[in-house]
Amino acid sequence: SDVLTLEMIEKCYNRGKPNEIAVLKGANLTIPRGEVVALVAPSGAGKSTLLHIAGLLDTPDSGRVVLGGQDLSGASDRRRTAARRADLGFVYQFHHLLPEFTALENITLPQLANGTPRKAAEVRAKHLLERVGLAARADHRPSALSGGEQQRVAFCRALANGPKLLLADEPTGNLDPATSDTVFGALMELVRDTGLSALIATHNMELAARMDRILRLDGGRLEDA
Ligand code: ADP
Ligand code: ADP
Repeated sequence: SDVLTLEMIEKCYNRGKPNEIAVLKGANLTIPRGEVVALVAPSGAGKSTLLHIAGLLDTPDSGRVVLGGQDLSGASDRRRTAARRADLGFVYQFHHLLPEFTALENITLPQLANGTPRKAAEVRAKHLLERVGLAARADHRPSALSGGEQQRVAFCRALANGPKLLLADEPTGNLDPATSDTVFGALMELVRDTGLSALIATHNMELAARMDRILRLDGGRLEDA
């Protein structure tokens, strides 16, 4: 079954103004369960816009967004927020970890917010940290971690609530090439382990080549590269 379907997505900014810009012009996308898709595009082509729409953070002007079989195109904010919490994990170029909390706490907190009991949340957080080789860093705050370590903690946090789909915007974009390679490997292992689907925007063609499929966003539409 398909985890995400985008149908004929259109999105324009500043409609009717001199600076009107049509970013998405009928973009289509289907991601089956377990598939990891690379999204490549020139800067300004609309990657973030597409990820925000897929992530239910923004709404298209027209088109359908179907997540886990539910058509959420016209859904209320409440339903969209619930679907986002239950089904989606997000990773960005910068880790956005909470600075006053430890690595373990950063992965535990979203689970508590989702209703998981503390003990179970901590067990899962430790397991995830082990999977990315950071068991020994559980009690460190983000400022005491390297950039690559911070990003690996952010991956664990994104997976903390067991999402169906991971959305990532340049997840290793602020790391040097060697670190980027290792950290991306850790992300792919986590994703493969959990059978998660993912849509990962990257400029790095070597990383894109390690995914199941590469999609290009150009001229407002998506096509297989
Ligand atoms: P990418 O992530 O591929 O760099 P974006 O989706 O961020 O592309 O942006 C696509 C285009 O839309 C860019 O020209 C950008 O400046 C413009 N844009 C993005 N968000 C907004 C917004 N909220 N209001 C107006 N223009 C925007
Ligand atoms: P990110 O990729 O970190 O999610 P944003 O989505 O905030 O970044 O912005 C992506 C691009 O869209 C940037 O180039 C930014 O300048 C542009 N942009 C974002 N919001 C607006 C806006 N309100 N008006 C014009 N351009 C915007």
